[in-house]
Amino acid sequence: MTARGGVRLEIRGTVQGVGFRPWVYRVARELGIAGRVRNHARGVTVEAFGSAQALEHLAGRLREPPLPARVRELVAEAIPDEPVVEFVIEHSAEGGPRALSIPPDLATCPDCARELRDPADRRYRYAFTNCTACGPRFTIATGVPYDRPATTMAAFVMCPACQREYDDPGDRRFHAQPNACPVCGPALALWSPDGSPMATGDPLGDAAARIARGEIVAVKGLGGFHLACDATRPATIAELRRRKHRDAKPFAVMVADLAAAHALAVLDPEEVALLAAPERPIVLVRRRADAALAREVAPRTELVGLMLPYTPLHHLLLAAVGRPLVMTSANPSDEPICADNAEAVLRLGAIADALLVHDRAIATRCDDSVARVIAGRPIVMRRSRGYVPRPIALARPVARPVLAVGAQLKNACCLATGDSAYFGPHVGDLETVAALEFFEAAIARLAQVLAVVPELVAHDLHPGYLSTQYALGRPERRIAVQHHHAHVASAMAEHGLTGPVIGVAYDGTGWGTDGTAWGGEVLLAGYAGFERLATFRPVALAGGDLAIREPWRIAVALLDDAFGGDAPLGDLAVFDAIPARSIAVVRGMIRARVNAPLARGIGRLFDGIGALGLGQARTTYEGELAVAWNVAAADGPHGVYPIELAGELPELDPRPLVRAVVADVIAGVAPAIVSARFHDSLVLATADRVRAATRAHGRLPVVLTGGAFQNPRLAEGVCRALADLEVYLHGEVPPGDGGIALGQALVADAVARG
Ligand code: ZN
Ligand code: ZN
Ligand code: FE
Repeated sequence: MTARGGVRLEIRGTVQGVGFRPWVYRVARELGIAGRVRNHARGVTVEAFGSAQALEHLAGRLREPPLPARVRELVAEAIPDEPVVEFVIEHSAEGGPRALSIPPDLATCPDCARELRDPADRRYRYAFTNCTACGPRFTIATGVPYDRPATTMAAFVMCPACQREYDDPGDRRFHAQPNACPVCGPALALWSPDGSPMATGDPLGDAAARIARGEIVAVKGLGGFHLACDATRPATIAELRRRKHRDAKPFAVMVADLAAAHALAVLDPEEVALLAAPERPIVLVRRRADAALAREVAPRTELVGLMLPYTPLHHLLLAAVGRPLVMTSANPSDEPICADNAEAVLRLGAIADALLVHDRAIATRCDDSVARVIAGRPIVMRRSRGYVPRPIALARPVARPVLAVGAQLKNACCLATGDSAYFGPHVGDLETVAALEFFEAAIARLAQVLAVVPELVAHDLHPGYLSTQYALGRPERRIAVQHHHAHVASAMAEHGLTGPVIGVAYDGTGWGTDGTAWGGEVLLAGYAGFERLATFRPVALAGGDLAIREPWRIAVALLDDAFGGDAPLGDLAVFDAIPARSIAVVRGMIRARVNAPLARGIGRLFDGIGALGLGQARTTYEGELAVAWNVAAADGPHGVYPIELAGELPELDPRPLVRAVVADVIAGVAPAIVSARFHDSLVLATADRVRAATRAHGRLPVVLTGGAFQNPRLAEGVCRALADLEVYLHGEVPPGDGGIALGQALVADAVARG
C-alpha cells in the first residue's frame, strides 16, 4: 500500500451553483480519494486524502471542470493525513454572503439535451429537464437561501424517482433545486389569445406546427415571454411588426445549433464561442448575403442578433419547426418583458395567435442579454439573463452596502457589498409606468435575494431622471454621481483599476457638473473625483429628443455651424424630402435658442454625419443611424478629415470635418469611404487627446467607455492607435448606460469615505 497524504485545494472561479461539488465528489470517488468539499464565500475548498499519485490526478482533473464551471485559480497546500474513508459534500458554512448561493440561469447542458432526445429516457421531450449544471436559477428564486422552498418550484412535490436523484451525492441532480420530470414537474399548455386552453395532447408540437404555417406564438421562456415566428417568412414578420407597433428595429433570431448559425452569418471563432457560452446571449454578427432569413427581420442593417436555444423548451421547439425563429421579447414597444400567464393574455392577446404557456412561475423578469465581439473579445451590451446576478469582483471592498439606481435609459441597478457588486436585470428605458414598477421591483428583489440592506444610495446627477427621483425618495444617505465619471468608474471597477486613469467617455448625453449636457468627454479620474481634460464642441438639437428621431435636424445644425450661417443644402440628398419651410423653422429654433438644447454627445455627431452620408433623414429607433453608419464603413485606411482643437478646456471642434464631409458627399464619394474617414478622424483625435493627457499626467491606464465604444471601428481603432499604452475596453459590464450603476456605486463609496 502506498503512503497516504493530504492536500487542501482552494479553488476560485465559476464553481458555485453549477454542479461543481457533485462533480468533485464523483471524481474523488473514482480516484479512491477520501475527504470533503465545501462552498464558502470565496469559492470552493477541497480537502483530499489518498496516495500521492491520486492526489496529483485529482488536482489535474479539477483544473478542467465541465462547463459551465470554470476554474480561474487553484492553490494546493499539503496538509496532514486524516483517518477518513469517505468523500463527502459538506453543507455550506453559515454566515457567509448568501448571495453566492443564487447563480444566474444556465443554458441546458449537453447531458440534459441528450436525455431530451432519447426516447428511452424518462425525460424524453420534457421541456423542464435540468440538473445541477443547468436550468433556471435567478428567475425562479423568491428568497434566500437558494433552496427549493424559496423558488417557484416550491409548488411542485418531487416524485420518488426525482427525490432519489436529488438526495444522491453521486447523481447529476444532487440538490438540483428545480429538479423535475413529466410525472411531478411543470407542464406545458397551449392557449387561445383570450386565455382559454386549447384541446391538445401535444402543446409543443401544436405550437410548432402553427409557427411553421406562419402564425405568431407567444412562448413562455426563462425570464419572460417571447413572440416566436418563422424567421424566413416576410409576411409573418411584417405582420408581427404591425401588431407590435415596431417599425424597423431588428428582431433577435434563435437558431437550432451552431451549424444553423454558420448558415446565416459570417462567424469568427470568438463569435462562435460567445454564441455557445453558457450565458447564451444574443450575439450581434454580420449576416451572410445569401442567408435564408427574411429581410424584414433586420430591415436596414447588415447585422443580425443570433442566439442558440437555452432551455429544453427552445431545443424542442427549434427541432420541431426546423427553421430559424424570430424570438423577440414579448412586450408592446418600450414596456418591460411580459412574464406572467394572466398578464400575457392581457398584453399579448392582440399580438399572438396562440400562447404556449406553463405553470412554473417566473419570479423575476429577465430579458435576453446582448453581446458582441469587439477587438477579439466579447463585450456585453445588455447584461441580463444568464449573467445576472453573477457578481463582479471588486479590487477594494466597499465600506458599506451601496445601492446604485442607474440612469434613465437602458436602466439596470447595481448593489455593491463587501468585495462584490451585483447588477440587477435589464429594465430598459424608464418612460412608462410599467417600466418604473419593474425598476422598483428589480431593486427590491435584488436586495432580497442578496439579503443586503443598502446604507448608501448612488444616483445620476440629472435631476429629471426617474431613477434620480426614486433615489431622492429613499431614506438612506444619497450621493449624486456625474454621468461620465460613473461610466469611467464602471470601466475601472471591471478591470480592478484603483486610479487614477485617463477615461474616454463617449455617449449620447449626460448631465454635467455645470448643468449643461455633456457627451464626448476625456477625464482624468479616480473613484473619488475627476478632472475634465477635453470635450466636444456642442451642437444644437432643434426639437430636443425629436432631433434624435429626425437626424436631418442635427445635420442642419452641424452644417450651419460649420459654414458660419445658412449652409447650402441643395446638393445633399438627406434634405430632398424635407420641405423648405421645415428647414426654415429648424434654423429659427437654433438661432433663437428656442427648444434647441446644446449637446456634446458623440452619438449626436454620428446621427448628424450618418444622416448626411447615408442620405437618411429619419430613424425609427435610437442608435439606428450610429450602427448603420458604422456598418457602412469600408475596411482599410482611406485618410481622415481634420478635427481642430479650440478653447481652454479644450473642445474638439468638428467643423472642418463637417465641411470636408459635405465636399465629399457632393463630389459623390462613396458613403463607405466617407464613413471610414469619419471613424478614423475620431480615432485620431481621441488618441491625440489621450497622448496629450499622458504628457501632462503620466502614462496612466486608459479606459474607453460609453455607448459609442460599442462601435467596433472606433473601439478597435483607438486601441490600435494607443497600442503602447495600457488600454481597457469593457467586457462583462456594458459600456453604455446599462453598465453605469457599477461606477455610481463605487464613486459613492469613495465619496462617502471622504
Ligand atoms: Zn443539465
Ligand atoms: Zn419527478
Ligand atoms: Fe451614458
